[in-house]
Amino acid sequence: MKKIKEILAQTEFSKADLVCLLQAEREERQLLFEAAQARKVATVGKKVFFRGLVEFSNICAKDCLYCGIRKSNEKVLRYEATDDEILGACRFAWENRFGSVVLQSGELSSPAFVKRVDRLLQAIKKMSNKELGITLSCGEQTKETYQRWFESGAHRYLLRIESSTPDLYHKIHPQNDLHAYEKRQDCLKLLKECGYQVGTGVMIGLPFQTDEDLAEDLLFLKKLDVDMVGMGPYIEHEDTPLYAYRSQLKTKQERFDLALKMVASLRLLMPDINIAAATALQAIDPVGREKALKIGANVIMPNLTPCDFRKEYQLYEDKPCLDEDAALCRNCLEARIELAGSEIGYGEWGDSKHFYRRQ
Ligand code: SAM
Ligand code: SF4
Repeated sequence: MKKIKEILAQTEFSKADLVCLLQAEREERQLLFEAAQARKVATVGKKVFFRGLVEFSNICAKDCLYCGIRKSNEKVLRYEATDDEILGACRFAWENRFGSVVLQSGELSSPAFVKRVDRLLQAIKKMSNKELGITLSCGEQTKETYQRWFESGAHRYLLRIESSTPDLYHKIHPQNDLHAYEKRQDCLKLLKECGYQVGTGVMIGLPFQTDEDLAEDLLFLKKLDVDMVGMGPYIEHEDTPLYAYRSQLKTKQERFDLALKMVASLRLLMPDINIAAATALQAIDPVGREKALKIGANVIMPNLTPCDFRKEYQLYEDKPCLDEDAALCRNCLEARIELAGSEIGYGEWGDSKHFYRRQ
């Protein structure tokens, strides 16, 4: 087997190389982190970009077996934030020079939902004199919908593939047309065709998932030539079907550690993309996101969802910042990011450098 030092000196990585990086321990793990940190500073620099996250509705037509707000979870109180609440959160982002917002929700595709998102996009652009960048994360839609939303002002879209291994994808989703791997993959292509900066990602530490699957995920991201990645640890939720497999899981700390190695390996594999420090990292380690920023990530998504709704957007247990108000969140984040040796790119969209290089 190759030594880590040999692998880290490469610019191309095979599946076996990536498995080796994901299995690095102690000094070797430290070498991986140092190499990724250096590659990050040399390519995307030290700036971290804020995306204010607004989880504007938890109503979802889908039933993903891992997700706390899946359609069949009757314990969840369903909500839809009003236009004023959503615009208020976006105004906070704009006034605090966050640069961009992410509008995220459960997945719906009714004409009323499509129209509402369209109207919100136009209102956010108007309110901010077109200064706020907008990322959408509203699931699988038709090409017409994606196009319409793009024309109304969204320019980035996040749609995680969740797992690029079709077998594993099928194990964590119900077997029906609403949850088809091929459809999700097609959506990523449609988003690219519409002109979006495209982001995807996976959950790390899922039941049944192997290090080989994760190495395949990294190669999938590279092959798809994505502009942004958001990936984080899978965390169980007791009101979901996947909870039954919790005894097969790695410990939370092991999942956290693997997630950091995924971020570092991805930075080496795709040096100029944007990589988000996933919120799920913070559910395991209070400074988990800052640790990810140090070794490769360059985007963070402070939660701007109105506090009353946050407890109803519990995708997994221990989701952080449940009752922290947005201003407080900002102050503590700022201090921690600076401590981690990064600067905040206030007022900038912080677009993916990779997106412009691939044009
Ligand atoms: N409904 C849209 C979709 O699925 O693309 C966007 C919202 S969905 C809640 C956003 C992401 O939450 C999913 O892509 C999934 O990776 C993540 N997620 C859901 N349940 C999770 C869990 N138990 N642990 C970690 N991440 C989870
Ligand atoms: Fe709905 Fe997204 Fe959760 Fe799946 S992951 S159940 S699509 S909110």
